[in-house]
Amino acid sequence: MKRIAVYPGSFDPITFGHLDVIKRSACLVDELVVGVLVNQSKTPLFSANERVNMIQVATQNLSNVRVEEFSGLSVEFAKKCGAHLIVRGLRAITDFEYELQMAQTNRVIDPEIDTIFLTTSLKYAYLSSTTVREVASYGGDISHFIPEELIGTVTERVMERSPLKLNK
Ligand code: ADP
Repeated sequence: MKRIAVYPGSFDPITFGHLDVIKRSACLVDELVVGVLVNQSKTPLFSANERVNMIQVATQNLSNVRVEEFSGLSVEFAKKCGAHLIVRGLRAITDFEYELQMAQTNRVIDPEIDTIFLTTSLKYAYLSSTTVREVASYGGDISHFIPEELIGTVTERVMERSPLKLNK
């Protein structure tokens, strides 16, 4: 039986931290489906379609990784993909409480789907999409945080959204 996992998240935008989790989990399964969540309470910087495209660019060398957008519950998305595993990343203790609660909730909804956690590589422990958006909004160098091919896209979008910060 093919071992399939999904890695759901917002990825707004994808960072080296996410990519690290993607690369490492792709080695553990036959197929990894990165799931880009559509329905969020806040307006994202990038549309789901744009986020999918950016992840596709960043993962083009990983042959067993594909990217899809989804809305609703991660367990439903996993089921639709034929996956029995949900992958999540843990950076710090602050991630733990929420992630534990989600994993337990998901097991109540569907006991056949398990969540596995990869702890972040130390060099990316501080890194989040929020950090990237914040640094970019002040005109800072984001090359330490996201793949080179995406820097122009992210910088441009952030400048459109918050030109005031850059003028300060
Ligand atoms: P969400 O809104 O679902 O938290 P994110 O895009 O912020 O979406 O994160 C998706 C997953 O990736 C989460 O499990 C998060 O903990 C993990 N993650 C985010 N940044 C990192 C990082 N630097 N290292 C490891 N895991 C990370």
